[in-house]
Amino acid sequence: MDLNTVREVVLVRERTELPAWQPGDAFIAGGCWLLSATVFQQIASTILQTTVERLRLRQSDTDTSKFDTGAFGSTGTTVTGKVRDNRFGFARLGDIQPAGGGTGSVTELRIDDLDKECSMANQVHLGHIFHLAGSPKVTKAAAVLVSIPDGALVIGDDGTIVYCGERGDLPDEYPSATVHDHRGGYLLPGFVDTHIHFPQTYAYDSYGGGPLLEWLNMCIFPSESKFADPEFAQQAAVEFTRRRVATGTTAAMVFGSAFPHAQDALFTETQKAGLRIVAGRGIQTRGPDTAKPLITSEEDAIRLTREEIDKWHGADTGDYNSALLHVAIIPRFSLSVTTETFKRLGELYDDVRDRGVYLHSHLNENNRPGTGEVDSTKQDFQVNSYLDTYDGKFLPGSKVGGSSLLGRRTILAHCVHMQDVELERMAETGSSVSHCPVSQLFLGSGTMPWKRTVASGVNISAGTDVGGGDEWLIPRVLGDAFKVHITEPGDAGVSMHPAEMLLLGTLGGARALDMENRFGNFDLGKEADFVVVDPSGTPALSAVLRNAVRADDTELARDQTLFGLLMGIRESWITEVYVQGRRAKAS
Ligand SMILES: [Zn+2]
Repeated sequence: MDLNTVREVVLVRERTELPAWQPGDAFIAGGCWLLSATVFQQIASTILQTTVERLRLRQSDTDTSKFDTGAFGSTGTTVTGKVRDNRFGFARLGDIQPAGGGTGSVTELRIDDLDKECSMANQVHLGHIFHLAGSPKVTKAAAVLVSIPDGALVIGDDGTIVYCGERGDLPDEYPSATVHDHRGGYLLPGFVDTHIHFPQTYAYDSYGGGPLLEWLNMCIFPSESKFADPEFAQQAAVEFTRRRVATGTTAAMVFGSAFPHAQDALFTETQKAGLRIVAGRGIQTRGPDTAKPLITSEEDAIRLTREEIDKWHGADTGDYNSALLHVAIIPRFSLSVTTETFKRLGELYDDVRDRGVYLHSHLNENNRPGTGEVDSTKQDFQVNSYLDTYDGKFLPGSKVGGSSLLGRRTILAHCVHMQDVELERMAETGSSVSHCPVSQLFLGSGTMPWKRTVASGVNISAGTDVGGGDEWLIPRVLGDAFKVHITEPGDAGVSMHPAEMLLLGTLGGARALDMENRFGNFDLGKEADFVVVDPSGTPALSAVLRNAVRADDTELARDQTLFGLLMGIRESWITEVYVQGRRAKAS
């Protein structure tokens, strides 16, 4: 099998656009590939270079533990297969268990050695590499910063990183590799946005609200209500996906729409583009009049959330450990749910925690005395701290009323006005902060205290918080983080190291998503999520990088270049975006 043929496998994922196929010949439904019998024959003869008749069904293979991803079988004229690894579309049929009883015209099916044959070509990407090696805490980021000006990144046939080093030291073992020469540009790990709102795709310019609670009431609830219209939601899902590809956001924790059809569109478009996502419908069981279209009954809040988990969590591969699609339980914030909702969400989370489901919400964003978000929450629930409401202690006096929602897959956005006890509890439970300085500036929420938050040991990641934030590009968030923290008063002020900024936007985000073992840097064996940054398209900024003064000290010069890059990157610089070694593309 030559590589041209393999590319056809990738094309299969792009389904009905293939001109030789008829609409309906191939499509995705609920994470399953559905192929017509005609197409299956075509694939069998052209890709597998064999015929269906020569494929034998391994009826005798009873080791079902290997076959956890779904069924493959034939009924009537339709052959269905659920794939384990969506990089290759249907390519890993070898992992798929025959459907019970369904044989149809395909009486024998056996596809051996497919993993080997249908692998992608090795890719070599050349450019200036920056990443953080290993698994550093933010305080140790500078010590593990890797800069390779004449670097090579090699992606293996399974989409993982097999080499990251000097171009001159590139082992001579990738003869069939395709070389992508980005020299003059940079290779950075894909950006991770740990707090962004899908139903605010068109609301990041909202004027007239004022700070948080008024802005939600006047601008955001009406804007999110428009997603009740399926056509509107669909076009927003396309736009929201385009924005992520354009800005190199390879993974995101997405605060979703209240409407299931909008969430279906979001997951479908994300899967088509090949991006990673964790998302969940925004849960509201109470709120002001403007939020009415977004509010459901207690029963529906739980039912719809559970249905979304069952439908989309790990749906692309059938296994959340290898999936790109994940689901989170997302109460909007404490003021939009009741104690009854919290109790039921705790029960639901207990039920689905071991399936790798996430938890996401807001915390300690606006502290206007008496009437802001923090005081309103504490008064409303009569609790000692805002965090208590997410920690099962949502009854008056912070009495336990249900299960905690905290844990290593929990991300809470903002955390601007935290008590020490709250920071300690988040660190202790492995929960992560999503730091959103652009949004905090826009809504006048204040500044998350950098030194104090870091000292607590809690993991910190970066979020755009579109539409509280008016920037989609994670490096713009990192730039504003630098500016707000150097402006903190007195001894609290700090000049962030560019390696700390990079950690916030890449590895720290992967850690917040509890997928640091899979992506976030260029350690060997990790899935290859990266962006190609080419300054040449923006003359003024590329001139700065070329001509700016650099220290004689090589380490400081390295830091200066990374700083200049992170502060200067604009969307137009991001020319290619890869997830698992495959180019992400929005429709
Ligand atoms: Zn938010």
